[in-house]
Amino acid sequence: MIPGARLVLLGRQGAGKGTQCVRMARHYVIPHISTGDMLRMAVKEGTDFGKRAKEYMDDGQLLPDDVMVGIVQERLGREDTTNRGYILDGFPRTVGQAEALGGITEALGHPLDLVLDLEVPEEVVIDRISKRRVCVDCQTNYSSDSPPRYDWTCDNCGGEVLQRDDDTEEAIRHRLELYAQQTEPLISWYQARDMLAAVDGLGHPDEVTRRLIRAVDGRTRHAV
Ligand code: AMP
Repeated sequence: MIPGARLVLLGRQGAGKGTQCVRMARHYVIPHISTGDMLRMAVKEGTDFGKRAKEYMDDGQLLPDDVMVGIVQERLGREDTTNRGYILDGFPRTVGQAEALGGITEALGHPLDLVLDLEVPEEVVIDRISKRRVCVDCQTNYSSDSPPRYDWTCDNCGGEVLQRDDDTEEAIRHRLELYAQQTEPLISWYQARDMLAAVDGLGHPDEVTRRLIRAVDGRTRHAV
């Protein structure tokens, strides 16, 4: 049995984090924890929390750190992650969240193995995001260049495949600015702690997955 791993995948919107996290989660047999997907589920369920989250998301704003830290802390305390690990997608997004994650993993007695930074230039991600289409039910990603086989119906679960409300060009530019201001500083933060591996995110998704696995297997110090 392949050992598990405790990973974070950083990268600007459209770098291919979602796609690569699904592949990495399958490879290491670990849950893929996407805070964006968790929030979109809450929005879909129409809970009070979901309604408040939607306001931030439609505006392209980040939710407050304490709210996000609470959600992730609860998720990382469940048995599936404590057994084999996880891959975090979309969290941490600020230095405050990274500090809180350090505290959570320390309290759980299992530090992160590695933080991966998926590098893709800004012009490439703007083009990718404007073409991105997502299944409303299972969140599988497609592109207007490679749609599902039947009439915008998800190949995976039969759900409807649509453009995300926050994937308009204006919202994308705003989210990229926010990424540069609030999330890019995490790269040097993790670098200074010798926890970061930068991986080229350009090229065929299979090749990018191979690069990520090579980076993790070269660095993972212990099995979980
Ligand atoms: P994503 O799918 O990761 O691009 O997330 C979509 C939206 O959810 C973001 O634009 C934020 O509004 C919100 N969000 C997701 N993760 C976080 C986080 N770690 N901190 C704050 N807001 C978040």
